[in-house]
Amino acid sequence: MKPKNTLLSKSTCMQEDLDEPPPTGGAGLLSNGLATTTTSKPTEYFPLSEQSSQFRSIYFPGVPNDKWSDWKWQVRNSFTSFDSLEKVLTLTDDERGFKEQSLNLPIRVTPYYAALIAGQQNLQPLRKTMLPTMDELVMSPGEESDPLGEEHDSPVPLIIHRYPDRVLFLVTGFCSAFCRYCTRSHMVSKKDKMHAGTPQIDRAINYIRQHTEIRDVIISGGDPLTLSDERIEYLLNGLRSIDHVEMIRLGTKVPAVLPMRITQKLVDMLKKYHPLFMSLHFTHPDELTPETREACIRLADAGIPLGSQTVLLKGVNDDSEVYRKLTHELLKVRVKPYYLYQCDPIPGSAHFRTSVAKGLEIIKNLRGFTSGYAIPHYVIDAPGGGGKIPLLPEYLVGNENGEVVLRNYEDKLFRYPDYT
Ligand code: SF4
Repeated sequence: MKPKNTLLSKSTCMQEDLDEPPPTGGAGLLSNGLATTTTSKPTEYFPLSEQSSQFRSIYFPGVPNDKWSDWKWQVRNSFTSFDSLEKVLTLTDDERGFKEQSLNLPIRVTPYYAALIAGQQNLQPLRKTMLPTMDELVMSPGEESDPLGEEHDSPVPLIIHRYPDRVLFLVTGFCSAFCRYCTRSHMVSKKDKMHAGTPQIDRAINYIRQHTEIRDVIISGGDPLTLSDERIEYLLNGLRSIDHVEMIRLGTKVPAVLPMRITQKLVDMLKKYHPLFMSLHFTHPDELTPETREACIRLADAGIPLGSQTVLLKGVNDDSEVYRKLTHELLKVRVKPYYLYQCDPIPGSAHFRTSVAKGLEIIKNLRGFTSGYAIPHYVIDAPGGGGKIPLLPEYLVGNENGEVVLRNYEDKLFRYPDYT
């Protein structure tokens, strides 16, 4: 890792987005931007990879392990502009001339995730998912700011009620990192990011309470794990007090971009609210660091069934070997590959979209060649609110003389009696 500059400017520090005030004491930034370590208090153990350790010693000298492993410190010290990123990355001409004001979605990268990107070429997969390029300013046919038409299905603020038995509960517009291809960029990009207050949350919970057909609540955002433990528990408590809510799901990218958020205290609280499922957002095997493995294992040890959601992205994971490696690494930390999504047509996302044939090819190269547990559902979320539509390579060739003709993973044909 080649050092660029050990002084980080104050512009890298964002405090206003935390849902609770930053803790007093501990590391701060001096007026020259140099990180300090005055009165840090010990926090619980969290592993520190070689990559993080090197990055921290170069760019945040003097910041001790416990501060680096404090998720609130990570959020406060996130990179939120090209100016701040230039301290740790060599920007391309394209990036250097960029006017961030023209972006739909601001920049936000945690120091932890920046360590995975630093020192890499601009074509490096993870970098592509976090740093905007000029391609993002190109609008293509079919792109819309709310491609899934969710705003039309919102009976009360924070709730999207499209399917009879389940609702989406969007509890915050804030994320610890902003993905350039985000389906909800129209929501997370808002300057006055939605922070749901208690009255709004209570109103949403009341809506769920009154609708006895709702048996499944998906807590999402933004990223719900950027809320405080107390706020998350308030939500879970409210939902668990409703008899007809059978299961709760929580969607998050935190284990990939802010793994130290998965504290023992958090998982001890979460496991009181079973059945609780989690959908974790991963894009590439490089995300499976020692820190992220620890986060996933803690969640799994708390008895939370874990599934991964991955968006198929050109130049990031649209390669059968890369995707297969991701699925294998996820299974090793007890995360079941759940969905592979075709990239939604948000404005300026054409450079991320692959052909549907590419997605089918990836699935075909998995089925039969690896464990069934490694194979996700490949889906297109139909524009305008049509829901998830699964796509499969053609294994059913046709019907002949009372038999179905099937193609297996080796492209061999088989017949099977079709009973009617
Ligand atoms: S973590 Fe999810 S909601 Fe947040 S920016 Fe990424 S894709 Fe969007």
